[in-house]
Parts: sequence; structure tokens; C-alpha cells
Amino acid sequence: MKFQALGSHYDFAWAMRQLFATGSKRHSAQLVQRLERRYGGKAYLYDKGRNALSEAVRVSIHTDTPLIAVNALTCSVVVEAIDDTAATPVYIDVDPHTAHFTADALEKAFHARPAISAVIVQNTYGRPCDIAAIEAVVRKFDALLIEDLAHSIGQTYPDGREVGTVGDLVMLSFGRDKLLDAVNGGALIVRSQHLTETVVAPNRWPRLRTQWQDRIYPILTWKVRSFYVSGLGKALLVAMYKFGLARRSADGGINRSLRLPHWQAKLVLKRLDSLEQTNLQRREHMSTYERYFGDELVSKDGTLRAAIAVADRAQTLKELRAAGYELRDTWYDTPIGPARKYATIAYPTNSLPIAVELAAKLINLPTHSHISTDDIERISAIVRRDV
Ligand SMILES: *Cc1c(COP(=O)(O)O)cnc(C)c1O
Repeated sequence: MKFQALGSHYDFAWAMRQLFATGSKRHSAQLVQRLERRYGGKAYLYDKGRNALSEAVRVSIHTDTPLIAVNALTCSVVVEAIDDTAATPVYIDVDPHTAHFTADALEKAFHARPAISAVIVQNTYGRPCDIAAIEAVVRKFDALLIEDLAHSIGQTYPDGREVGTVGDLVMLSFGRDKLLDAVNGGALIVRSQHLTETVVAPNRWPRLRTQWQDRIYPILTWKVRSFYVSGLGKALLVAMYKFGLARRSADGGINRSLRLPHWQAKLVLKRLDSLEQTNLQRREHMSTYERYFGDELVSKDGTLRAAIAVADRAQTLKELRAAGYELRDTWYDTPIGPARKYATIAYPTNSLPIAVELAAKLINLPTHSHISTDDIERISAIVRRDV
């Protein structure tokens, strides 16, 4: 069985590295330096991307009832990052072809609520958004631009600028299934000088217990995947969560004071060294999917995951499973994913019809290193029947 998520892009060497990594101040300093050079700003390392994003939101707000514009199709941790400050999210409905809002939709939102303090762009699936047009709207209304690079590190916008070199604030995620995966981790880059004065640098380490959860995650998920077909794997997964050996990635809440352990900074450095290679391979996989799906591929020109709308998701996933592909981990199968978090969020369903409809139909197809061109052809043949 091949998987979308569940640690499927770690190999054994990485699992060992994650388990035994040691690091020192030097590694954190080196990571900070590389990020500052690449993105042109001041970098802060966090235990998770969501906490970096929450700090970005916190320093952006300048009214008593602040509003933050955000993609209508996103991860619950983004909403939590906003909610944990005094701010309220304003969801901008997506273009069904890109799963990202357009500059036009954003401009309409500003006309309705001129007090929006900041706009978060997300480059869903690593597909670069039309940043020049979006940036123009943000500047016109005197707001701040936050780039969430959780899906898109290393990508280039249509106008030639690298993602992360446009916004006032930039968030990176080093979380599981992301491009610079160290199981958990994140960074904030502050690119506007005047904002650096208000940033409060994180100053506490995550608890040892959570650090251990991050160390054993690759090896545990490897066991889960190898015993999956027999049903034992699923039981192990349930036990992992139940006995606190692991934590679901969307859980844990927001804490802006937690910094990245040095050993994880060292792992991120290692990932950075091979980022270009990783993205090259993922882009190649994306073009193979594109050969099958053309412009219907929502993630066209992206990297992290391929995505397409299908008529009957449950049936397609079932057929994929029968062929040896467990791909049910979907970004996002509810407008704010995962479903168990969506149920707790006040989401204005009626005013966001496209995100609601797209979330009901999306399916994600893998582009990671343990997927071959043959796999992609087999997967695409199955999915094609339902598009
Ligand atoms: C994963 C993700 C984040 C940040 O995730 P962390 O797990 O907190 O590092 C932020 N935005 C989006 C869209 C994401 O998918």
C-alpha cells in the first residue's frame, strides 16, 4: 500500500536521523541566516508554523476589531492562528480552478470591509497565485500582506519573484507532509523593518514529551504503514494517539512563545539542502498528472500535492485503495480541514459556495519521492474515470 500522508515520504535513513538528531545553537543560527538571506528579512524559528503565523497576524492588527482576509479553503490551524489574536477571519471565496482567491474577489471583500488589516495568501498545493494583482489590491487598501508558504516553499510567482519575497510577513512550516518536513517546526520572516520592533521572539522550548513525539513519528508511521493492509496498522495508529505517542497534526492549539529545538533546526537545514531537487521531482510528477487532467488539475504548476475535483470522492478513494493507494488524507475535504475541526468553526457557508462545493469534490494525489511515474499513471487512470 502506498500513502498520501502518514509519514509516507520518509525513508529509513530519515527516520533514524529524526530519532537521533543532535543539534546546537550553531544550527539554529545557521538556519536563521539562510532564511534571512533567502527571504530578505528578520527570521524567527518557531516550534510550529501556526505559531509563527499567529505572531504575524498579531503584529499586523491595528484596530480594536481587526479583520484578516484568508482563503476560504484552508487548514484549521490558520483559523486558530487568527482566532488566538484579537482578530476575526474574513474568508475570501476561491476560484474553483486554483483553490485560491483571485485579486478581484479580494478587492470586493475590501470594498465590503475596508478595515481588513492584513491578507494571507496561501498558494494552495504550491500553485503560485497571481501575486502582482493581489499585492496591488492589498497596497491600494493600505493593508499588510502575509505569505503562508506551508505549501509552496521554493516556488516562483508568475511575475518571476520567489514566493516569500513579496509579503511584509512570511510564514514557513516545517511540519509533517510539508516540503521542509522535520515533523514539526516553522519560521516567521519579518520583511518590513517597522514591524520587527513589535515582534516578540519565542523564548521557550517545547516540552520534552512533545519533542519525543516528533522524534518517533517517522518510525511509528513506518510501522503503521507496513501493517496497514492487515488492519493491525490502523489499530497501532489509534493506540499511538490514545497513549500519547503521537498527536494529530491539527491538534495542540496556539502558543506563540514556543521556539524550534536546535536538533530540528539541523534537520530543516538538511531538507533545505535538497529542496531544489525535491521540488524538481515534485514538479515533474505534477506535469505527469497534468498530462492526464490538463487544466482540470486544480494544482497545476504546484508542487506539494496534485488536486482535482471528482464526482464521487468516496467511490474513487475506494477504487484507489483496491489498487494499493490509500489517498484519503485530503486538503481539504471540508472548507476548513480537517472535518472534526470544521465542526467547531463559525464558517459562513452561504456566502462561500465555491469553497463549499470544491471541498465536497476534491481529491489529493501524491507527488512525493516514494511515488513513481508508473504509480501516477495507475492512479490517474482510476481517477480519470470519475472526473
Ligand atoms: C500546514 C499548514 C500551516 C502550518 O502548519 P504547522 O503544522 O503549524 O507548521 C499553515 N497553513 C497551511 C495552509 C498549512 O497547510
